[in-house]
Amino acid sequence: MTELLILGTSAGVSTANRHHFSMAIKRNGRLYLIDCGCPANMLLKKMGEDPRKIDAVFLTHWHPDHASGLPMLIQDLQLTYKPEGLSIYGPAGTGRKLAQLQKMFILPPEIYPFNLHAIEYDEETVFDFDGLRIEFFKTNHLAQETWRKLDEKHGHEITPIAYGLVIHVDGKKIVVSGDVFSSNDLIPVLPDADLVIHEFGHMPPNKLNAFVKEQQIPNLLITHIHHEWDLRAEELREIVSEGHSGEVNVAYDLMRVAI
Ligand SMILES: [Zn+2]
Ligand SMILES: [Zn+2]
Repeated sequence: MTELLILGTSAGVSTANRHHFSMAIKRNGRLYLIDCGCPANMLLKKMGEDPRKIDAVFLTHWHPDHASGLPMLIQDLQLTYKPEGLSIYGPAGTGRKLAQLQKMFILPPEIYPFNLHAIEYDEETVFDFDGLRIEFFKTNHLAQETWRKLDEKHGHEITPIAYGLVIHVDGKKIVVSGDVFSSNDLIPVLPDADLVIHEFGHMPPNKLNAFVKEQQIPNLLITHIHHEWDLRAEELREIVSEGHSGEVNVAYDLMRVAI
């Protein structure tokens, strides 16, 4: 049985009800984390899960609402003696950023009881393990000229690249948008998707409504909620689902989704 654990559901500004973005795939007793907004390790425990069962973390990009929980997760696993290694998949620059993080937070690799592996993926990479297949597609969240110039100014250490994920498990196809520039970033990966998990931090709800209708999305789960919509989940659901026959739901922290 495979389950999605929706941990944090806020976008860049967390609220009293929503922590930063993170979710996990639970399968055969193991956990696969998708993004690691703060405090992913604590939210897993609230759902009755043991962070030591995480086999891999997949970062869509390094914005703090997606990666800020990483130092805390690493320290947690270090202090609770995770027996196996931990693989952290991320876009180009992930190896360097992880090394910088270990220095910044006084977590040098020599003091780990486990091995930390940085794996930089691209559109050719396929993660395939125990019946779980994950592929990666680039979004335009950080693809603008402004970001390219800023990256150049900072010696290419910003590395502004963002991805979304396509998950194949138990005969189902699940698209996780990551952060996008617009919903159109998802169009190439939409065919045959059973569930689309779409961020809501970078577009008005009526645009999302037009998108679900045009693309005939059968099942949409909205997460990464802009803080202004924190307490307006039902209003958001109504706007996005207006005139659309497919299912539309708004995620909340600690939500479980059966696959
Ligand atoms: Zn974000
Ligand atoms: Zn972002």
